[in-house]
Amino acid sequence: MPELPEVETIKNGLIPALVGRRILKASLPWPGQVRRPSPDQFRQDIVGRVVEGVRRRGKYLILDLSGPLTLILHLKMTGCLLVRPWDASPLPHTRAILCLDNYTGLNFVDQRKFGGMWLVEDEKEVIGRLGIEPLDRSFGADVLRKLLLSHDVPVKPLLCDQMIIAGIGNMYADEALFEARIHPERRTRQLKPGECRRLYQAICHVLVEGIARCGASVSTYQQPDGEPGFAHLFFRVAHRRGEACYRCETPIRRIALRGRGTYFCPRCQRA
Ligand SMILES: [Zn+2]
Repeated sequence: MPELPEVETIKNGLIPALVGRRILKASLPWPGQVRRPSPDQFRQDIVGRVVEGVRRRGKYLILDLSGPLTLILHLKMTGCLLVRPWDASPLPHTRAILCLDNYTGLNFVDQRKFGGMWLVEDEKEVIGRLGIEPLDRSFGADVLRKLLLSHDVPVKPLLCDQMIIAGIGNMYADEALFEARIHPERRTRQLKPGECRRLYQAICHVLVEGIARCGASVSTYQQPDGEPGFAHLFFRVAHRRGEACYRCETPIRRIALRGRGTYFCPRCQRA
């Protein structure tokens, strides 16, 4: 699933392609991609709107449109947003196309159909309950420590809880915990001040690096121009089951933690 670095990269790619462009038409080969309002209403309401800005909040993309409405998108497991010419032959699994006034279209391609679009007046309806942005100034080592101490759960699921911290998912949580040398099942309340500080620095570091490397193409993720990212080539534990730890050469382990594949080094990250 695309996480903060992937969605941020997509945002950066969409800004030059979309801002200032007028939406001429919405075509919905699979109307279920529209969550709000009805697909017919969506088609009607979006026509003629100019894209005034593109933002990210957690793993959501937000398109500020002229007029009162805002378009919010979530890519979930397999969603991709690709900017392609009108006359390009459609890709398999294209669920929606927003045709723009420069002969290109924003194509929402989504093999598993879990992604969604919301066209709303008040963005809070969709993203109002998200947790803190980990790269925001308001987030710091002390804030993280308070969040960790106010819960008594394994640390990895807390990092992935979008209502607590928005944007971190499976891959970057594993990477941050490895860098901070913390076992993913450690209880949050038992983490020492030094560990909380290391974890804060590791979170910022892996996210910033992920953005600099244009995201991780371990699954279907692509940038809006169809190029892959290359952050996964630098992963130290995520998706490296059985391979040697770069720090100590112990084979990387994979366990299921609350149903999610979790990679760690059993020697560098002791329970
Ligand atoms: Zn190791």
